[in-house]
Amino acid sequence: MAWLDRTARGLFMTELVKGFALTLSYMFKSRVTLNYPYERSPVSPRFRGEHALRRYPNGEERCIACKLCEAVCPALAITIEAEPRDDGSRRTTRYDIDMTKCIYCGLCQEACPVDAIVEGPNIEYATETREELFYNKEKLLANGDRWEPLLAANIAADAPYR
Ligand code: SF4
Ligand code: SF4
Repeated sequence: MAWLDRTARGLFMTELVKGFALTLSYMFKSRVTLNYPYERSPVSPRFRGEHALRRYPNGEERCIACKLCEAVCPALAITIEAEPRDDGSRRTTRYDIDMTKCIYCGLCQEACPVDAIVEGPNIEYATETREELFYNKEKLLANGDRWEPLLAANIAADAPYR
């Protein structure tokens, strides 16, 4: 009877009708796709995106060059050099992150005692060359300046769970 079944399905085009019916049913459902980049999905406060170095509200760098982030980084992506300033405070003279090595584990952020190095919400930093992914201190501080309101809000939102 299998041939009869196949013939009937071919004759009445039931597969085609089922397909059209399925398509029609989806026309009345809400869309699950987004028109990126004009529409975006929400990003968690814990999202681990592009790195940034933050400053205090008075403009001073938060980083105290303790090198904990460099020590904890499993990918050996962070390179820090430091010297004491004239006022005796300790600050970095070099803070590099090789983003091609980074595995976005977030350990640098977890290790930092002053919330200086953070992984922000930015996911849009694709580059055309590898060299552009070798971030230096200026680039990281610029990221911090750019994203500070959101970074501070994310840290505040996560604080009760730490
Ligand atoms: S996120 Fe992880 S791998 Fe990337 S720089 Fe920080 S500690 Fe290293
Ligand atoms: S970013 Fe934080 S953990 Fe890394 S050297 Fe600076 S103060 Fe220390």
